[in-house]
Amino acid sequence: MRPSVLDPLFAPVSSLQGIGPKIAKTISGLVADRQDREATLADLLFHVPHSLIDRRHRPGIAYSENGQIVTLQVTIDRHHPGPRGGRAPYRITAFDQTGSITFVFFHPRRDWLEKMFPEGEVRVVSGRVEWFNERPQMVHPDYLLSLEEAASMPAIEPVYPMTAGLAGKTLQKALGAALQRLPVLPEWQDGAFLERNMWPGFDEALRAVHNPKEQDDLSPEGANIRRIAYDELLASQLALALVRKSMRQLGGVSRKPSGTLQQKVISALPFSLTDGQAAAVKDINSDLAEPIRMLRLLQGDVGAGKTVVALAALAQVIETGAQGALMAPTEILARQHFASMQPLCEAAGIRLALMTGKDTQKQRRILQEKLNAGEIDLVVGTHALFQGSVTFQNLGLVVVDEQHRFGVHQRLAISAKGNGVDVLVMTATPIPRTLVLTCFGDMDVSRLTEKPAGRKPVTTVSVSLDRLDEIVGRIGAAISSGQKAYWVCPLVEESEKIDLAAVEDRHKVLEQALGQKVSLIHGRMSADEKDAAMASFKSGETRILVATTVIEVGVDVPDATIIVIEHAERFGLAQLHQLRGRVGRSDKPSSCVLLFKAPLGETAAARLNIMRETNDGFLIAEEDLRLRGGGEILGTRQSGTPGFRVARLEDHADLMEIARDDARLILETDPDLKGPRGDALRCLLYLFGRDEAIRLLRAG
Ligand code: ADP
Ligand code: MG
Repeated sequence: MRPSVLDPLFAPVSSLQGIGPKIAKTISGLVADRQDREATLADLLFHVPHSLIDRRHRPGIAYSENGQIVTLQVTIDRHHPGPRGGRAPYRITAFDQTGSITFVFFHPRRDWLEKMFPEGEVRVVSGRVEWFNERPQMVHPDYLLSLEEAASMPAIEPVYPMTAGLAGKTLQKALGAALQRLPVLPEWQDGAFLERNMWPGFDEALRAVHNPKEQDDLSPEGANIRRIAYDELLASQLALALVRKSMRQLGGVSRKPSGTLQQKVISALPFSLTDGQAAAVKDINSDLAEPIRMLRLLQGDVGAGKTVVALAALAQVIETGAQGALMAPTEILARQHFASMQPLCEAAGIRLALMTGKDTQKQRRILQEKLNAGEIDLVVGTHALFQGSVTFQNLGLVVVDEQHRFGVHQRLAISAKGNGVDVLVMTATPIPRTLVLTCFGDMDVSRLTEKPAGRKPVTTVSVSLDRLDEIVGRIGAAISSGQKAYWVCPLVEESEKIDLAAVEDRHKVLEQALGQKVSLIHGRMSADEKDAAMASFKSGETRILVATTVIEVGVDVPDATIIVIEHAERFGLAQLHQLRGRVGRSDKPSSCVLLFKAPLGETAAARLNIMRETNDGFLIAEEDLRLRGGGEILGTRQSGTPGFRVARLEDHADLMEIARDDARLILETDPDLKGPRGDALRCLLYLFGRDEAIRLLRAG
């Protein structure tokens, strides 16, 4: 149960005076982490300003720098309305001791301007100065005040990330009202630790962030934000530590088979394991032999060969008589894993099945009976596997592919389906060490750093969309010489319809231009349609596959050697790298064409440059972190670090490590969070939405 002291913070924003349902919805879109509910006051208060405007900055006209926000005390000189009915803006000239300036108004209301700016009077004006042809001007000043009114102008104003349809003043008012309802909360941090860092209390910090007096009050390095960021990091690390502890506590099973089944799988491979793969298998085998549960992350770039390692792990567990499950994030991937594992399982005598959301009731019932009877050793599926109704005779190992798409509770849900279930998480995203910690907590990590032998790096070029015809011509030539190509179009949620039309158009254009059948695959198609499209591309019946990013993760057609990515400027680095990983999977040279729409923004240009320069996924991940912060790496669109409101990986990585140690120490001394600080820490977990973990504590 949520501590009642938090109730005011969990009230919906529409409970604030002056916030109706419509504004509440807009605010929720801006500040809530989920869109299926209205934002709470806590959500609102964690929406922190990113910068501030200092109205005290009064350099004088001549000393105002281009682009700066300044406050000027000026004498109004003359009005220049421009010809009546014309389009020219309305200009007002003014001066101070240092020089003169022009105020510019578009679509002016003349009578209002004449009243606000009487010629010959002194006015205080604040806004952004721009220099044109060596003359300063200010377009639509923020404040126009008489000398008496000037005292009422706030000296410092926080600036918030905004959204269309929400006035800055409305947001400020809502925040002010929310701060008034901020209750006094128990202190959950260690007193000595706070003192050492000279950090304020939580509510003091939050109030200061929203009413900054100086830059330091809201900068990521300042005491206020660091305090709140640390609170958030501690909540997250504590939740992860609780999950880990409860998984460990449930007790593991020591699995020490002879290893013959694993050997059978490995010998059935048409290649030998890379050193990295062999080392990962060895790590996993020794984890499995321990009487505690395995929680291991298998990290490896696209094409590094994680699937084989997973199958070896599954074989080891299956030999002990237990069952295995492999969860993939999409239906296509589940089917592909199933197809690629089938021959190997057959060779080793592993009984394999597929479970997806598309199964008929009858299929599902038969499969369920076989799972209960232990007649299936390994089931590959989508999140259909999480469902409460799915049960196993003896589930021993769960392999989760592409973990970042699944949440902690899904991981818990599936591993609760067996006794001492071991967990192996595979991720193709080469997440830097610090992010591993935020997303996965304290897992053991195996990394596959080398690609299987014989792989050639992919040559990458970027080409403007203006040269589309030329590219289509070249693809045509490559196809005629026996190659296969992916053609990827972006599909972003905001304009799904338009983008869908774009994919279908591109498909038509390519079929016409090349005079042959082209496969098409996108998220709106049925599973059967997708399967059929993949199958004809795989078999070579069609040689081009036009796709949205549904092919992003894991799709494996080794003889495809070209990938064209249209509107490459709209993709993040991690996604571009994932997509490029679809080619370069054989010993033939491959290429990647990044088709962009000019002109390129600075960040987009930097991204495409990095893609041209390197094939190294870990390097790309680091660059990505540098360019955009953590959000982009995990493919999320919002800025900031995914899953966090205030803490940011770029700024607070040092705190992350401290929070991890702190969380461990807390649980060592008060494992059930029952002491006085324990109560406060429960508040903390609720406050940052990590209360799921509280259910893992023993009742009381
Ligand atoms: P990942 O899931 O890490 O992106 P996959 O497991 O899908 O990579 O493997 C990519 C391709 O490389 C597959 O076609 C697989 O059969 C092949 N492969 C895996 N391991 C090796 C190896 N040791 N030598 C040669 N090819 C390999
Ligand atoms: Mg894979």
